Amino acid sequence: MPASAPIELRPERKSIDSGLLDDVRRGRLEGLGAPELLTWAIKNLHPRLALSCSFGNPEGLVLLDMMHRIEPASRVYVLDTGRLPQATYDLIDRVRDRYGKDVEVVFPEARAVSAMVREHGMNLFYESLEKRQLCCRLRKVEPNRRYLAELDGHVTGLRREQGVTRREVRKAELESDGRLLKINPLADWSDDDVWRYVREHDVAVNRLHAEGYPSVGCAPCTRAVAPGDDPRSGRWWWENADTRECGLHVGEEKDGSGI
Ligand code: SF4
Repeated sequence: MPASAPIELRPERKSIDSGLLDDVRRGRLEGLGAPELLTWAIKNLHPRLALSCSFGNPEGLVLLDMMHRIEPASRVYVLDTGRLPQATYDLIDRVRDRYGKDVEVVFPEARAVSAMVREHGMNLFYESLEKRQLCCRLRKVEPNRRYLAELDGHVTGLRREQGVTRREVRKAELESDGRLLKINPLADWSDDDVWRYVREHDVAVNRLHAEGYPSVGCAPCTRAVAPGDDPRSGRWWWENADTRECGLHVGEEKDGSGI
């Protein structure tokens, strides 16, 4: 088990090298395979680069394994909303033991969450779309934004196959007016590609996948789906399909976390 050390964040962010920005803008990275793209990102951005891993999707664990092989000191973080299932916490500890890795755990602002539940109750997300989005914003989107403000790049497990809103995902994108690189090494991977890597490299994944959960988020907002059903249908199932995003991958500030 690694010793837990405080997360050291760079006090001042310097601007990203213009040559790197040019590589991204001109699409020069789009032809790279996942390990090659990660090698490029680590070489140019580490330690101001971190993998965003929810520990609830196999993609994040595949990337963690790949990045660890390239650079054992590569960084990974998880947003702990305070409502994750026990299986996810167990997996975080399993990964810490297996790779000897510090997983940077990012928490929401306690005061904001406290005020929210005082006003709306513990289970406000079931009451309306607005309240569900408020909960996602305070527990996920804001902490993610705060964490990313200290980095030059982040890696996500987004794949084009994951739905209409993700069809245009590129291998490398610019966010925050060009101040942040978003690296999506699995953009062109299929579901089969992901699970093949998991099997071949014996990657540890969330045990709830074996119980019918294709994707594991917060406990009160995730359920198992029937075989063949849309994998996203187990998330916020009481809402219309077109609102089922937590806000991490939508809007102007695309500060995705692979969740
Ligand atoms: Fe809140 Fe549910 Fe969003 Fe988690 S997924 S932050 S519990 S609304």
